[in-house]
Amino acid sequence: MNIDFNKSVNGLIPVIVQDVATLQVLMLGYMNETAFQKTVAENIVTFFSRSKNKLWTKGETSGNFLKVNNISIDCDNDTLLIKATPVGPTCHTGTYSCFGEQTPQGFLYQLETTIAQRIDSDDANSYTNKLFKRGINKVAQKVGEEAVELVIEAKDNDENLFKNEAADLLYHFLILLKAKKLTLIDIEAVLKERMKG
Ligand code: AMP
Ligand code: ZN
Ligand code: ZN
Ligand code: ZN
Repeated sequence: MNIDFNKSVNGLIPVIVQDVATLQVLMLGYMNETAFQKTVAENIVTFFSRSKNKLWTKGETSGNFLKVNNISIDCDNDTLLIKATPVGPTCHTGTYSCFGEQTPQGFLYQLETTIAQRIDSDDANSYTNKLFKRGINKVAQKVGEEAVELVIEAKDNDENLFKNEAADLLYHFLILLKAKKLTLIDIEAVLKERMKG
């Protein structure tokens, strides 16, 4: 990554941190080259604090670290966008984001993130990862099977079995989205577009 620290003010570049699961903006901080290198080495966001005038690992006292999922740079190499998994509230006031308590996106996004982590880290013990590695056709087939099981349970009167098959379907559906390199947000966008009509 070719960051232009010289163009920046005092060798500091702005860094936008976004929740990888919800895509909501969590905070904005600054990094110098050392902060950037530490962030890359540890996969935990470290800023350069302008008020403390030293390196600041977000969460170093609160424990509310920002785990790095992805780092990208803007068009002219002077601003970073970090997609991260917040361990706790990002703002020191206790809110999820420094820009206030935003609409919670819910558990499915967390699950989607967990699924992505199992797959991206190639976790050998993970059912999710093993299924994913069998290929997209196998994943799609599982979605089909779970859908059929749900249909069967719909005719029955066992609410618990129905709920479990619904959960199986949702879970496998999320793996299929991942296999298609899509996310829940992409599907939401389609549904939102339809609501406009
Ligand atoms: P932390 O890094 O979460 O352990 O917090 C250490 C100190 O950094 C806090 O007491 C605040 O002064 C400051 N701080 C923490 N989080 C933020 C934030 N999101 N924006 C600005 N300052 C923060
Ligand atoms: Zn720029
Ligand atoms: Zn804040
Ligand atoms: Zn099932």
